[in-house]
Amino acid sequence: MTDRYAVIGNPIAHSKSPRIHAAFARQSAQDLDYQAILAPLDRFAAAVAEFIAGGGRGMNVTVPFKLEAFALADHHTARAAAAGAVNTLKFEQGGILGDNTDGAGLVADLLHNIGCPLAGKRLLLLGAGGAARGVILPLLDQAPVSLTIANRTASRAAQLREAFAEHGNLAARAFADLAGHQFDVVINATSASLAGAAPAIPPGLYAPGSTAYDMMYGRGLTAFLAAAQAQGAGRLADGLGMLVEQAAESFQLWRGVRPDTRPVLAELAGDLQRA
Ligand code: NDP
Repeated sequence: MTDRYAVIGNPIAHSKSPRIHAAFARQSAQDLDYQAILAPLDRFAAAVAEFIAGGGRGMNVTVPFKLEAFALADHHTARAAAAGAVNTLKFEQGGILGDNTDGAGLVADLLHNIGCPLAGKRLLLLGAGGAARGVILPLLDQAPVSLTIANRTASRAAQLREAFAEHGNLAARAFADLAGHQFDVVINATSASLAGAAPAIPPGLYAPGSTAYDMMYGRGLTAFLAAAQAQGAGRLADGLGMLVEQAAESFQLWRGVRPDTRPVLAELAGDLQRA
């Protein structure tokens, strides 16, 4: 019987996950079906229960349900426990396993697709929401020389520094207090690009040869990447690769098979530029 998987969110029509997982399944000859499920905002747990009752084996979880998915899971991987948010559910005999593959997806994209090493580098993470929280531990695992978190609401950056202080060398700053510092990799985990805006960071932050990475993606440069280019970032990358790599991590958790992400990423990138 075909195994069933799905991505659940609200809204969900825009999701590229069904296409990505269908490509992974074809490529690795796995017999599975992957759908997109629109859950009403107050019916996340009920929608998951229905999917399990119908034979579902696992789910990806997207906005706005990642915190509810964390609460719903019976047990968590270490990286999901650290993130406090879940983007992948696996339905097992012993209950629901919650994982968070966003951080591993970001790191895989930076290291393997973009060729941007993180060890010994000065990293700047902009934002203190769910996406930022999910990537802190995987970034620290790469042994950067420092990781600075900066957020529009500075107190939320400070809260994240406290929460992860035992895991590595972390600093927290308001955007304005970044002036005078330089970074090798600047990662935008704010949702500012969704509104076509760039975070209001001071100029001069990009070290020679630095990389600017926006978790958001789309056709052409996001507002953050356009600003980074104007401010001298050496290399620009958007979050399409992170999307494909986090999906590959989920696929591996479910199926025990590591898909080849490169052809899938190339296909999606080509479609975006043609759109
Ligand atoms: P949240 O709503 O949890 O957090 C939003 C963050 O953005 C907060 O830190 C907020 O600051 C900040 N922010 C919002 N507007 C502005 C602005 N105009 N200027 C500066 N800062 C701003 O969102 P998420 O963390 O869940 O998602 C963040 C982004 O990451 C989204 O664009 C999402 O699409 C993307 N993402 C991409 C993934 C991928 O696979 N490529 C995976 C996961 C997320 P404040 O605290 O001051 O309000």
